[in-house]
Amino acid sequence: MTTSFRVFATADIGESLERLRQRGYQVEVYSKPEAPPKSLILEKVRSGIDGLITTVRDQIDAEVFEAGKGKLKVVAQFAVGFDNINRADANRCKIPFTHTAEVLTEATAEFAFFIMGDLARRLWTAEHLTRENKWGFWHPYLPFLGDEVTGKTIAIIGTGRIGLAMIKKCSGFDMNMLCYDPVYQNQDFIKAVQEIKDLRHDRGISRDKTWIRYVSFEEAISEADFVSIHVPLLRAGESDTPTYHLFNERTFKKMKPTAFLVNTSRGPVVDEAALAKALKENWISGAALDVYEKEPLPADSPLRDQAIEDRCRLLPHFASAAKITRLSPDPNKGMAGRTVQGLIDVLEGNYGGDITRMPYVVNKEAFK
Ligand code: NAD
Repeated sequence: MTTSFRVFATADIGESLERLRQRGYQVEVYSKPEAPPKSLILEKVRSGIDGLITTVRDQIDAEVFEAGKGKLKVVAQFAVGFDNINRADANRCKIPFTHTAEVLTEATAEFAFFIMGDLARRLWTAEHLTRENKWGFWHPYLPFLGDEVTGKTIAIIGTGRIGLAMIKKCSGFDMNMLCYDPVYQNQDFIKAVQEIKDLRHDRGISRDKTWIRYVSFEEAISEADFVSIHVPLLRAGESDTPTYHLFNERTFKKMKPTAFLVNTSRGPVVDEAALAKALKENWISGAALDVYEKEPLPADSPLRDQAIEDRCRLLPHFASAAKITRLSPDPNKGMAGRTVQGLIDVLEGNYGGDITRMPYVVNKEAFK
């Protein structure tokens, strides 16, 4: 099948774009590594493109959807999170948008686990000792000790795809788990994990009996040694249980002073000024972050304060940044492959042209 659809991609997503070109699509890719200015996206949409490939860096709001009304047929987002796309505006203009759920689930969860380990065992600080030639001796407790992850209690905030994958990783480290999700509790999954935990103990693989259960938000954050966030960014009005600044001064004060926070979800879920204060004033022990209220992290962010440097790991929105996860053209393996497949489904009318049946379309409600 060859077509003459026109597509603009705001970033290069690799060889998957060849699949479109081979089908006769005219594909234009923004050539610079930074995000294009909004004015350029508007210009392309106004010029009558059929499909727009976006990333989390692009603000796709009423202005863009209005510009594309009646012409733009799909926005294909190269991410699972879509808080940069205004769903209500997309629905009003009847423009479907797709995302790349599932293919980045395990990569994101393992990254959350790794940065939790980095933070707890102080790997970054320890390597600096070696590199800066400050490793003067081996000593039982000097210059510092870290905290083990194994056998500790973790709060999993949000038990969707990535939260459940994080539970699998933590289960392998014999962690106890306090789960919180006000929207959907996957009791079957939690029961199965408990059965595996019991079997590991019964067969002598794990020394101690460990447990997993759903609890209230208050119990989760106040009892845990580690708190890992896996929620979407939902602002007031977008959900009955918004997540904007879910973590703030009040919540940090409820956490244990020995506890660590891990955030690989979205920056605005955490009030960064409150977090910097919580770290400086030792309300909590440390934080490992991959996402920020403003990205890239501004030079004057209080999170960069040297006084908290060894207790605050700062990663550059990197959780899904693994080769196959990001770039595989296979829609069952890579974000790029899934982005392209979502775009093809809409433009070429797969599933009998029924948008409500297309697996990667998010805003199906607008087409019922
Ligand atoms: P998901 O929709 O499968 O899971 C989200 C879960 O959060 C759902 O179960 C939902 O019920 C729950 N939830 C909603 N409101 C809540 C609240 N107030 N408190 C607690 N739980 C709440 O999504 P997912 O695929 O697991 O992805 C989660 C988020 O992770 C994405 O929306 C995205 O923002 C982020 N993410 C970040 C990276 C990264 O590179 N750092 C990579 C992938 C995903």
